[in-house]
Amino acid sequence: MDCLFCKIVAGEIPAKLVHQEETLLAFADIHPQAPTHVLVLPRRHLGSLAEAGKQDRELLGRLLEAVAEIASRLGLSGGYRTVINTGADGGQTVEHLHLHLLGGRPMHWPPG
Ligand code: AMP
Ligand code: ZN
Repeated sequence: MDCLFCKIVAGEIPAKLVHQEETLLAFADIHPQAPTHVLVLPRRHLGSLAEAGKQDRELLGRLLEAVAEIASRLGLSGGYRTVINTGADGGQTVEHLHLHLLGGRPMHWPPG
């Protein structure tokens, strides 16, 4: 499978790691949209949120919990934005589930 984020998980493509644990990895987005822009993702390939099922409940919960922990560790005490783009209309460009953690500036609503 030709998946960019699987290659980062495998260490074949370098990334600026922010956090790693048994099932997850977090690294800096290569094109940051905010002073802090981190991607949090499962090590195991899962194409998108739309492909998640019952068996992924624990993983999805841990992904959200990890986002909050990383935000706290990075000092985002004023708040932050968490985004999951899903599919073409959702703006997903890399087909390996990932959560965007954006912070360090005020966020606007609605998103584009
Ligand atoms: P999405 O559009 O939600 O699929 O997000 C994909 C994200 O991956 C974008 O914000 C990209 O900037 C980011 N990205 C693409 N290639 C890399 C890479 N090699 N290292 C880190 N982030 C990347
Ligand atoms: Zn993958």
